[in-house]
Amino acid sequence: MDHTKINLLVRLQHLDNQIENIVSLQKGLPEEITALEEDLAFTRRQIESRKKIADDNAKLRLKLHDIIEECRNKIKAYKEKQTLARNNKEYDALSKQIEYEEKEIAHSEIQLQDIVHTEQRMQDIQQKGRQLIAENRYDEISEDMMPDDVLHQQLEDLQKQVDQKKEELDSIVIETAEDVDHLNKLINEQRELIKAEANRLLDKYDHLRSGTLQNAVVKLNRNACSGCNTRVPTNRHTMIVQGGFYLCESCGRIVVHERLFEEASK
Ligand SMILES: [Zn+2]
Repeated sequence: MDHTKINLLVRLQHLDNQIENIVSLQKGLPEEITALEEDLAFTRRQIESRKKIADDNAKLRLKLHDIIEECRNKIKAYKEKQTLARNNKEYDALSKQIEYEEKEIAHSEIQLQDIVHTEQRMQDIQQKGRQLIAENRYDEISEDMMPDDVLHQQLEDLQKQVDQKKEELDSIVIETAEDVDHLNKLINEQRELIKAEANRLLDKYDHLRSGTLQNAVVKLNRNACSGCNTRVPTNRHTMIVQGGFYLCESCGRIVVHERLFEEASK
């Protein structure tokens, strides 16, 4: 058996492991940042939707006040006209118009009251939320119950956390960039070499690593595959010791003697 081919592959696994070690220095920061950013976006949407409701209410309130003001002016004008009315018919017609404007005012005032009630209800719900927070009953708090100030504080805290984690990750990425570049270069060269010498082994390696599994080539450890701990049959030990490889029957990984990894790291 040609053992140099497997040596080439072990070297590739060694280099890929080194990249993995560097990535693991990032300590799950990328995933953490993604999760925090999702929370941040959710909080921001909540705040924006509340702001929209508040803005719409403010606009409607202004419009209703304008209407009331306009009606009052009209009533004032009609009343002045009434003092100059030449007959009952004219006087009654103006009275009807005044009555109409008064109804308009009443209608607008009801709408203004509705706004006040809605806002009051929202505040009451938030008050309930504040109470639940004070009692640590977080799982009972619905979206609406989250008090405005708590929501804003939450947004601020999340933003701070995201910034901090990003900074941490950036510094790790910068620190390791040179090593990663160098390793990637070595990996590409190694892959080219194996492609020329043992293309089928490389296919096997890539196929094994196409999922979540990173270690396609593993050491024989206590007579077992160190990838899945399944025992390697005794009659294959000699071949492994001699520098050959064994395909684990259980997980499909390529099992080699640890000596090969020591050699690959030189
Ligand atoms: Zn295995």
